[in-house]
Amino acid sequence: MSISKKTLIIGGVAGGASTAAKLRRLDENAEIIMLERGEYISYANCGLPYFIGDVITEREALLLQTPEAMKGKFNIDVRTLNEAVKINPDSKTVTIKNHADGTTYEESYDNLVIATGSSPVKPPIPGIDGEGIHTLWTVPDTDKIKAITSKGDVHTAAVIGGGFIGLEMAENLHAAGIKVSLIEAQNQVMAPFDSDMAQLLHKNISDNGVELLLGDGVKAFSRANDKTIINLTSGKLLEVDLVILAIGVRPNSALAKEAGIELNAKGGIKVNERLETSIKDIYAVGDVIEVGHFVTKEPTMIPLAGPANKQGRICANIIAGLDDKYEGTLGTSVAKVFDLTAASVGINEKALIAAGKVADVDYHKAIIVQKSHAGYYPGAMPLMLKALFDKNGKIFGAQIVGVKGADKRIDTIATVMRLGGTVHDLTRLELAYAPPYSSAKDPVNMLGFVAENVLNGHASFITPNEMFELDESTYTLIDVREQMEVDMFQMPNALHMPFGTVRNRLEELDRSKLIVVTCAIGVRAYNVARILQAHGFENVKVLTGGTTFFTSITGIGPKPTDTPCFSK
Ligand code: FAD
Repeated sequence: MSISKKTLIIGGVAGGASTAAKLRRLDENAEIIMLERGEYISYANCGLPYFIGDVITEREALLLQTPEAMKGKFNIDVRTLNEAVKINPDSKTVTIKNHADGTTYEESYDNLVIATGSSPVKPPIPGIDGEGIHTLWTVPDTDKIKAITSKGDVHTAAVIGGGFIGLEMAENLHAAGIKVSLIEAQNQVMAPFDSDMAQLLHKNISDNGVELLLGDGVKAFSRANDKTIINLTSGKLLEVDLVILAIGVRPNSALAKEAGIELNAKGGIKVNERLETSIKDIYAVGDVIEVGHFVTKEPTMIPLAGPANKQGRICANIIAGLDDKYEGTLGTSVAKVFDLTAASVGINEKALIAAGKVADVDYHKAIIVQKSHAGYYPGAMPLMLKALFDKNGKIFGAQIVGVKGADKRIDTIATVMRLGGTVHDLTRLELAYAPPYSSAKDPVNMLGFVAENVLNGHASFITPNEMFELDESTYTLIDVREQMEVDMFQMPNALHMPFGTVRNRLEELDRSKLIVVTCAIGVRAYNVARILQAHGFENVKVLTGGTTFFTSITGIGPKPTDTPCFSK
């Protein structure tokens, strides 16, 4: 195989640099030119918030490649400060503005790759372009924010947007000793999560001293006395030294649009499985493209580093004549949110409901609390896991929140999903076990067991919020924990009936009512639910995640000390 053609790549970071390097490995003689409008190529955008928080202390560590190194190692003609300003498909050329010397020139191509990424959204809010309001996307953005925070006169900051960049910025500004308010227009942070899971994050964010303002948007910004005044839709006013805007991104597709390349309604470049755009010999990768969702097969936009890098590699293979294709994005992601890790894959329950799917008919869910490793080995921490699946066990998505171990579990589930597996496969996975790392039945196995129980009717669950919505006279809540546990935290309105006593106390329960069973995390409650079912109780549900989940999301009751909780 030999390409030995001229490939021009627009954009020199994740997708662009991956395409260039792989292409070189496939053909030593190809001419490869990589244009980058900024000063830096192949930098670690994902590490930028951590440089501001001084977790990453060496600025150079963020710069993964220099143009010189890329030239030396890969013989790639890297042109920084060179911006593609027009694509001319008819002549197969690109018009380029050299910002270093102010000249404009044209470069021809045999193949063109658009890897222009995305940029932060700046909605037309009055005052949004004012002093003191910043976005974080590039190394220069980071330098600017770092210079401001390092002076020591930033005492208060507001982060607008509760997505992963907003949360990372809130955490890192807080780590830099700044009092932070986090403002999110939706009633939860982290859109990939359902609100039940997001509540664990809310509590932890607040416990860490960040003011969390949910369901409130920005009406206007103004400036007075060297501070930014934020006028919120609720009428609340905030006065801060620094504002970080992190309310989403939009694809950098103006060039493609002008060239006549087909875009979707959000401005994403439409590509086929071979990453070809609607114009011959023009490919596109990364944040700028529309991808097929691996689960729904629907077109969508998922701006993440992993997919951008992989698309770059696949694009190079295709340009080099290899048989390859991009099969879609699962949206596997993970973020550090103060003491917690929040990880998700696939689609969530909100998306299923929005698509008209009906709970317990079109989709089912399992939510469990498990420890990150064997409970008897020091340092085990709770993990909350949620899976969504259909009647055949096909997994729609999963979400995990916990102090440790969430990342490897989400990766395991993502792998099963990628290989077309089901919740039944989760039960069969043979995963590495020793007490410091896991349990003989890993939390992922347990999630599979519970999901199977849901599907075969052995268990039915009710979340605390669903229970709160019921008329209290219609159900009996029984708490099957031991007396010692109840002494530490008494579940409101619960009949205490320790696990070992249930068989002898059945006559105390009203069979005409729904019986909700709870324990610390749901395991004993499930056992009791089975006993009740065996004794003819027809309407029995297990309270999802037991008292651990209940106290974590409601804030009712003391923070458990025996099972470390999701909050400080
Ligand atoms: P980019 O990496 O953004 O590269 C596009 C490049 O094209 C830019 O350098 C731009 O200057 C250049 N360009 C644009 N137009 C032109 C033009 N006309 N001419 C020349 N050059 C041009 N993703 C994760 O998966 N995990 C994370 O933890 C994570 N954290 C992040 C944290 C931050 C602060 C940021 C900013 C992003 C983060 N991301 C994360 C997202 C991830 O970085 C992007 O999804 C990924 O970089 C997209 O790759 P890309 O090649 O499409 O675009």
